[in-house]
Amino acid sequence: AAQNIESAFLFYSEEMNQRAKEHLRLETELRLALVNQELLLYYQPKVSLRSGRIVGAEALLRWRHPVRGLVSPGVFIPVAEETGLILELGSWVLDEACRQVREWKDANLIMPTIAVNLSARQFDQHLPGRVAAVLERHGVQPEQIMLEITESLLVRGADNVIAIMNELVAMGMALALDDFGTGYSSLAYLKKFPISTLKIDRAFVTGLPYEENDCAIARAIVTMAQQLRQEIVAEGVETAEQMSFLRELGCDQLQGYLFSQPVPAADFERMLREGKRL
Ligand code: C2E
Ligand code: CA
Ligand code: CA
Ligand code: CA
Repeated sequence: AAQNIESAFLFYSEEMNQRAKEHLRLETELRLALVNQELLLYYQPKVSLRSGRIVGAEALLRWRHPVRGLVSPGVFIPVAEETGLILELGSWVLDEACRQVREWKDANLIMPTIAVNLSARQFDQHLPGRVAAVLERHGVQPEQIMLEITESLLVRGADNVIAIMNELVAMGMALALDDFGTGYSSLAYLKKFPISTLKIDRAFVTGLPYEENDCAIARAIVTMAQQLRQEIVAEGVETAEQMSFLRELGCDQLQGYLFSQPVPAADFERMLREGKRL
């Protein structure tokens, strides 16, 4: 038995070793990715359930690796979060989103709000100043950009988080709470934060309209958001049945494969030009 435990341990540590190596390789390559311009943004439209029109888009990071191909953020964002590299990636994302918005505006496109994801690690007292500088450099209005944050940031709950949010809102930016329902926010809790939009996590959308629990959760979230006068976006909407259910609940917008996957900038631009509708 002792022998077995020992070999099991060796096996285990060998596996850990492999993982650590893979992790380190990713980190090194990710640093290079910034320098070698291997990063790009895809855009996924958000559509109004009332008008059927595109009313926004979420910018989602992609990494075009020379050997691995297109790497999903699910793989590299956790590594970036752990190593702190997320700060540089986050800055790049905001800068690139603003550059793109500027380019589209210069091409006379009517631009809906573009949302970028913010890591909790980006949230410090310097954030509003840094964001303002990027907007100004590109000549982009704060109203044009929305910031998506997650519940983990709220749960951290420090007063300065609220102060930083208030500062961003005072600048004219809107804040959305991402992945809503997966954390621990309650109604009383949410009231404290200047958040204008709630995004229902895909986990609760998937089961609509057949899973009773998911229906109850979606209904509760929409009711709550309406009382707080928040816009509500359903994520990961893939079927017409899900859409109908959400529309009946009074959900404002949907984002998901039913309308479009995240697409390269040129494709999103085409959707805007052609006025693609639900
Ligand atoms: P998220 O912010 O919740 O983004 C939504 C994710 O759901 C995206 O995955 C999107 O492609 C996917 N999705 C959208 N509609 C559907 C659908 O109908 N069905 C299914 N199955 N999936 C759908 P993606 O692009 O792989 O991004 C994964 C996560 O990586 C994001 O989740 C976000 O947490 C993170 N991420 C992406 N870009 C950034 C970024 O620039 N900064 C930070 N901090 N995180 C990012
Ligand atoms: Ca998001
Ligand atoms: Ca989300
Ligand atoms: Ca999610």
